Amino acid sequence: MTDSSIITLDEKALKNNVDFLKKKMGAKVLISAVVKANAYGHGIEQIVPLFEKYGINHYSVFSYIEAIRVFNSLSEPKPIMIMGWVSDENMADVIKKGIEFFIFNIERLQIALACAKKLNIKANIHLEAETGMNRSGLNSEDLNTAISIIKENEKSFYVVGFCTHLAGAESISNHPRILKQLKNYQKMSAILEKNDIVPKYRHVCNSAASFIYPKARMDLVRIGIMLYGFWSSIEVFIQYINNKSKKTDPLERILDWNSQIMTIKEVKSGEFVSYGISYLAQTTIKTALIPIGYSSGYSRSLSNKGHVLISGQRCNVIGIVNMNMMIADISNLPDAKVGDEVIIIGKQGDLEIKVSSFSNISDQLNYEVLVHLSETIKRIVI
Ligand SMILES: *Cc1c(COP(=O)(O)O)cnc(C)c1O
Repeated sequence: MTDSSIITLDEKALKNNVDFLKKKMGAKVLISAVVKANAYGHGIEQIVPLFEKYGINHYSVFSYIEAIRVFNSLSEPKPIMIMGWVSDENMADVIKKGIEFFIFNIERLQIALACAKKLNIKANIHLEAETGMNRSGLNSEDLNTAISIIKENEKSFYVVGFCTHLAGAESISNHPRILKQLKNYQKMSAILEKNDIVPKYRHVCNSAASFIYPKARMDLVRIGIMLYGFWSSIEVFIQYINNKSKKTDPLERILDWNSQIMTIKEVKSGEFVSYGISYLAQTTIKTALIPIGYSSGYSRSLSNKGHVLISGQRCNVIGIVNMNMMIADISNLPDAKVGDEVIIIGKQGDLEIKVSSFSNISDQLNYEVLVHLSETIKRIVI
């Protein structure tokens, strides 16, 4: 390994997740793979070709920059949907490339209209409804305004979608709020229909919603976290597994992260390790320096709490996690040597460090741990 750490992506695990989700959603529901935030930290350039290979034909991102990275990673043009940010300067390029995007306010629609007219090309839009999350989207009044603008400019728009986002489908405590949102969505959908605007795709579900509210799958589901092998929350997993006779997790994690021992030291009893005075050696201990830190995406909040695997054993991360380095206690590994493999996320022997274990000890969501993995770490597919 020439780099200080490396991320490996398991192609077979990815295929397993795609196959499982396709089967689960059924042939009538299109899966849009959400690859925002560098494909949840996995790497857009590595992940998109694999999704493409295993039959994913629609991609969702947050921003223009991400859309361009997906565009360049595909072997042939496929629909790409921007769910969030396009600056005014980038709008013309988005429309030229046929990239789809959310219309979340009337200003967006006006800017899209001006660009589409100038280019004489239709803009591929998804009308996003504000149904109760109170984040982004058109309320009923906006929707009526949008409808009249679209009707007056039929040569400039193709209404690809009508959508909304549910505010926390992964938690049962949000159930009443979600039901209210679905009701509002249907009401607004009826307004569109009355005006003879028939979107190709109606879509409201992320991973959690597509499992908890299967009737809400409609034409398309926007699946992120589960494609990478993680359940949105323990509640979603429990609900799924409850009525299954086989109690095994059908999803497989794709990502492993490993590094190596950079140097080994003996620290005498009574000495402090790393910055400050947060770790005091109680006896003489042996430590391994590992060349990753919070700049790589290993949170500082895991100082004195995290674990790594070395020589098939679990070792404690001791002292403060530095920008580029951290230290593990390897006192119980007499044979450890410089260059030995260190697993930060993944399996070694019978043991495994899971992303979820980070969440348990540091208040980070699965999502958060993944997207913080530095883009500079090399990703390879195995
Ligand atoms: C991120 C995102 C999703 C995907 O959510 P997962 O929980 O990862 O499946 C779907 N829709 C929107 C609007 C999103 O921002």
